[in-house]
Amino acid sequence: MLRLPKFRLHQPTALDEAAAVLAGEGDAARLVAGGTDLWPNLKRRHQKAEHVVSLGAVAGLRGIHSNGDLRLGAMATLTDVERHAAVRERFPALARAVGWISSPVLRNMGTLGGNVCLDTRCTYYNQNEEWRQAISYCMKAAGKVCWVAPSSPRCWAVNSADSAPMLVALGARVRLASTGGEREVPIAALYRDDGMEYLTKRRDEIVTEIVVPGTSDASSCRAAFFKLRRRGSIDFGVLSVAVALWMDGDVVRDANVVLGSIASLPSPADDVAAALVGQRLTAEVIRAAALKARSAATPMDNTDFDPRWRGQVTPAYVERTLRAAAALPPG
Ligand SMILES: Cc1cc2nc3c(=O)[nH]c(=O)nc-3n(C[C@H](O)[C@H](O)[C@H](O)COP(=O)(O)OP(=O)(O)OC[C@H]3O[C@@H](n4cnc5c(N)ncnc54)[C@H](O)[C@@H]3O)c2cc1C
Ligand code: SF4
Repeated sequence: MLRLPKFRLHQPTALDEAAAVLAGEGDAARLVAGGTDLWPNLKRRHQKAEHVVSLGAVAGLRGIHSNGDLRLGAMATLTDVERHAAVRERFPALARAVGWISSPVLRNMGTLGGNVCLDTRCTYYNQNEEWRQAISYCMKAAGKVCWVAPSSPRCWAVNSADSAPMLVALGARVRLASTGGEREVPIAALYRDDGMEYLTKRRDEIVTEIVVPGTSDASSCRAAFFKLRRRGSIDFGVLSVAVALWMDGDVVRDANVVLGSIASLPSPADDVAAALVGQRLTAEVIRAAALKARSAATPMDNTDFDPRWRGQVTPAYVERTLRAAAALPPG
């Protein structure tokens, strides 16, 4: 049986108390929300913590408010987000992305804030301690080499958080709080192309809210999400596609296409988006744009399925997702 290591559990009831523990304990402290990723990671000794700060009892982090912008509390569970009437009505693609995370039981515990901050994943890392010890570990935890790309100075572990590409495509922002105050950043800027230091936020900053802009643009927004995985019931994705298109009548005024589970951060496929702007969403325009996704997808051999195959099928899944956003049949 895998056991948790010993640590001191802090259960603050106010945000400033949680921030104070994080600031005081530095790298020895970690936050826990639903714990569906942190507890297994501590049990497998990927991550260490002498202090764990639970956000479970902190007041004011669970709400979902839909007045203009859609404001999602970081501690809202994935089930809360997926089922919320305003999310389903205004941003159905976001409800779909969240509804495809893991399984119903895990979505009841897992939170949106935890998903946004989810650790990156790799075949050589998401294993138990004995397995990793047998390969002398790897650069991401305790080792010196990256087994995926041994001559590489960096880690290529994959960002597999399903809400992330959709939130990036929708232009969401995250609110961060610390003892130094609060700030808001575009969620795209939260992510770094590095499997180890995958977030740009400081360790002492807490995600308090995710804000999806709901200007008049929202009504003209057509969005869609697709996730490829081995077992539809629970698996992490090996590719996801998030699309948000803002329309002027039947012409695309602006477009975001973001690929997930393929790199260390949600990856914008800007060439695909550029090929859609100013166009009507015909099957031919969509196919030509989707073909440009191949250059944005260079998966590594660190997750399920053959990486060359994942790269090759990316345009087909981008085309399928764009067709869904355009309300065309799958083709
Ligand atoms: C079998 C299994 C299958 C899974 N499948 C998927 C999947 O398909 N797609 C997917 O996206 N995820 C999947 N997950 C991962 C996980 O369940 C979800 O990502 C979930 O949303 C994580 O949320 P949590 O609240 O449990 O995070 P936690 O485990 O509590 O925390 C995760 C990380 O985020 C940090 N954190 C949490 N909240 C905050 C905050 N408010 N501010 C700053 N940092 C914070 C923690 O310190 C930790 O590093 C799976 C997990 C399991 C066990
Ligand atoms: S990509 Fe390399 S360094 Fe990163 S977790 Fe995998 S093997 Fe380790």
